[in-house]
Amino acid sequence: MSQKKATILVTGGAGYIGSHAVLALQKAGYEVIVLDNLVYGHRELVEDVLKVELVVGDISDRTLLDKLFSSRDISAVMHFAAYIAVGESVTDPAKYYRNNVTGTLTLLEAMVAAEVKQLVFSSTCAIYGMPQQVPMTEDHPLAPMSPYATSKRMVEQMLADFGSAYGLESVVFRYFNSSGANPEGLLGEDHNPETHLIPLVLLTALGKRESISIFGTDYATPDGTCLRDYIHVSDLADAHVLGLEYLLKDGKSEVFNLGNGNGFSVKQVIETARVVTGKEIKAVERERRAGDPPALVGSSDKARKILGWSPQYSDLSKIIAHAWQWHQKRHT
Ligand code: UDP
Repeated sequence: MSQKKATILVTGGAGYIGSHAVLALQKAGYEVIVLDNLVYGHRELVEDVLKVELVVGDISDRTLLDKLFSSRDISAVMHFAAYIAVGESVTDPAKYYRNNVTGTLTLLEAMVAAEVKQLVFSSTCAIYGMPQQVPMTEDHPLAPMSPYATSKRMVEQMLADFGSAYGLESVVFRYFNSSGANPEGLLGEDHNPETHLIPLVLLTALGKRESISIFGTDYATPDGTCLRDYIHVSDLADAHVLGLEYLLKDGKSEVFNLGNGNGFSVKQVIETARVVTGKEIKAVERERRAGDPPALVGSSDKARKILGWSPQYSDLSKIIAHAWQWHQKRHT
């Protein structure tokens, strides 16, 4: 058997992007420990599909973290654990600041105390707010429009300060629209409640929902609906392994966008899903959703250049086809 590489603690490894990252780490030969409170994560994905060690607990539990770091030889942390619903963050900001910000602060303090000084962090393109130019680069001004996005921006600031003061090095990934599913059908997206466009379109195709709502048809875009940059979750996962390896080779802290650089409209997504699934998929035009910028498209040139990242599944049909395979398996 080949020798295992370093041990990586993955917080939120029972969630959508975290579970794909665990799989990518396993494929690259790393030992993985998942820490997840299972509020939204799926135990069976970790224990039955990925078959890695699951510690059920919270990033806010300092005693648990100290025990983990002192009893295990953890080289680095990938930190996915966070609440992600933009709308809920507006009505219940305390939940977001408590978990995403103070929870992360506890994790970072525990890491510094244990001298684990390398972290890969999931951030979001939502911290840019209204786009001033498209595609957006990492130096685009930050103007988060929701407590969720602000919570990610606060953590990015903490990471910069922890880097200067305590030597904690971080790779921050600002994702555009994470979508799709593991091409072999092992893992996929299963949020409850679901708010994202592609899974909602596919749940409609499966007959689990009557129709898909199109939020706004009067944007200044070619067909009037919002443009987003859909990036395959397995490509995101691969970037995390590259980011980790960059840090393990003594790379300094960096922030990277992860997107394909192509914008697809809501109507294009629905149309592509009709072709992929062969289903009618009823769509209903509705008012704009509060806080939606018209176009979010990212430049990932920096990740390509510095990390050598090269997304494999930039084709929207393929992204939707992989998601469809997963949804059919999960829901029928
Ligand atoms: N959207 C929509 N109907 C839905 C869900 C989303 O029209 O039921 C739109 C949403 O307004 C946005 C795009 O689809 O323009 C992507 O939304 P999603 O929530 O998937 O991701 P976000 O861009 O908010 O991170």
